Amino acid sequence: MSVKESKEKEKSLHFIEEIIEADLASGKHKSILTRFPPEPNGYLHIGHAKSICLNFGMAEKYGGETNLRFDDTNPVNEDTEYVDSIKADVHWLGYNWKEELYASDYFETLYDYAEKLIQKGLAYVDDSKSEEIAELKGTPTEPGKNSPYRDRTPEENLQLFREMRAGQHPEGSKVLRAKIDMSSPNMLMRDPVIYRIKFAHHHRTGDKWCIYPLYDFAHGQSDSIEHITHSVCTLEFVPHREVYDWLIDKLEIFPSKQYEFARLNLTYTVMSKRKLKLLVEKGFVNGWDDPRMPTISGLRRRGYTPKSIRDFCDRIGVAKRDNLIDVSLLEFFIRDHLNKIANRVMVVNDPLKVTITNIPEGEVEDCIVENNPEDPESGSRIVPFSREIFIEKDDFLEDAPKKYFRLKPGGVVRLKGAYIIECDEVVKDEQGEIIELKCHFIENSKSGQDTSGVRTKGVIHWVSQQHYVPVELRVYDRLFREPDVNAYEGDFLDLLNDDSLQIINAYAEPSLREATLDDKFQFMRQGYYVLDKESQPEKLIFNKTVGLRDSWKK
Ligand code: ATP
Ligand code: MG
Repeated sequence: MSVKESKEKEKSLHFIEEIIEADLASGKHKSILTRFPPEPNGYLHIGHAKSICLNFGMAEKYGGETNLRFDDTNPVNEDTEYVDSIKADVHWLGYNWKEELYASDYFETLYDYAEKLIQKGLAYVDDSKSEEIAELKGTPTEPGKNSPYRDRTPEENLQLFREMRAGQHPEGSKVLRAKIDMSSPNMLMRDPVIYRIKFAHHHRTGDKWCIYPLYDFAHGQSDSIEHITHSVCTLEFVPHREVYDWLIDKLEIFPSKQYEFARLNLTYTVMSKRKLKLLVEKGFVNGWDDPRMPTISGLRRRGYTPKSIRDFCDRIGVAKRDNLIDVSLLEFFIRDHLNKIANRVMVVNDPLKVTITNIPEGEVEDCIVENNPEDPESGSRIVPFSREIFIEKDDFLEDAPKKYFRLKPGGVVRLKGAYIIECDEVVKDEQGEIIELKCHFIENSKSGQDTSGVRTKGVIHWVSQQHYVPVELRVYDRLFREPDVNAYEGDFLDLLNDDSLQIINAYAEPSLREATLDDKFQFMRQGYYVLDKESQPEKLIFNKTVGLRDSWKK
């Protein structure tokens, strides 16, 4: 979807909102409760932001609430580092959860549910090996066959299941399966495995358990335990819905309902924790919060604001079919927000020295520069101006065409916040390279009090040689060379852009010494920048968030 298309899209209720409104109107629910259920096995990415904005946003809209539930039923890969980062990211996006919950806190209840199913004759312990189970499963076009263990009595199943819990059976020797229908057209309904033996340490329950419930026997039940009214997940869970409903029905517990929407996919990046983890572990990026990463922490470090991400998620809406969103739409929203809030400052990337010959040596003049013309509250600051300054090399052209409004021999240009200067002489080295310009400033032409009568069409930025601060700029390009990384059949790492980070040593006006991690800047005529967390007082580092306009070559 392009920026234009999305602008044209009218704001109307999406299909989940329609369902909620109907449920509230019919009295099926008095209020709504949603949940965001991350698995703590990695950092959150912009796809999760979509889910967060959707779940918290709907609850806010309809006066309901949202639980943050860590879906931590799989003991391997999970870590408290991830739990902490997830909480920080949800808060940063601007949302507060009703309760912080852990699916692992329900292990005892889930175990009781499993016994209840066994007692009802609706679950059995299967001693088949996983390959045997797979073999009897059938195919989408052929029905499966019953396991030889399917007709065990509830008493025998209960006994075996209790032994499994007590650690009396090795991993892989037994599983608990729901007894549904081996000939169901939905393969997931063919007696799904709901418990397996795993002698693994869990980040919260430690070594208390050696049997763990599978997704299908944990997710819907957790929803139900919490009385979640609308459980929203992504499309790949459509076939799981039948299992979800079956289990809730047979267990006779609170009837939570599952609804599915399309995952967010963005061009030039990947959106799977497994792949993002690989990029981190193999050192292709500098950690989960590398500013090139589509993670929330990466976007934050890159200079994105929570508002820009929320606005983006709102604009892309809730789709029922998978699609690929152009990353320039995300960039449009951050640019739009930064334009309103970022202070304009002067930073010269590629310096050319200019000596202003009619300013005495050692004299310093204060120039008052407006911080942000888009925000009258933002005030102004003082930038020191002196005899020797730097301008951008490409703001001067020796053989300039008539319509060139920056500096040229004999030409005039305004220095932002300071004076109009006129170029008198071009100084070159032995190789013919331009190394300096000699100019003079025009009397009475200072910004804001100009009575000189001299007309200029161009305004350029500059820094004083005596006062500038050296800064490192980190300028990022797309992480991958191809827009649709998922469509690539080979190894996604083949598509990595080797040139996604460029480092520039630049000269900044002295006010940037005071920059904090929360400040947002527009480096005039260059782009939006933010201080990086690796910055040191003696070495300031800035990340480029995004350019001033969408100039990315297709
Ligand atoms: P990944 O494939 O990146 O590991 P996941 O779906 O396994 O993602 P979870 O931690 O299980 O990650 O996801 C938490 C919630 O976020 C789920 O409800 C999931 O559907 C949702 N979610 C994950 N990725 C996306 C995405 N790209 N777009 C929208 N929602 C997403
Ligand atoms: Mg998952």
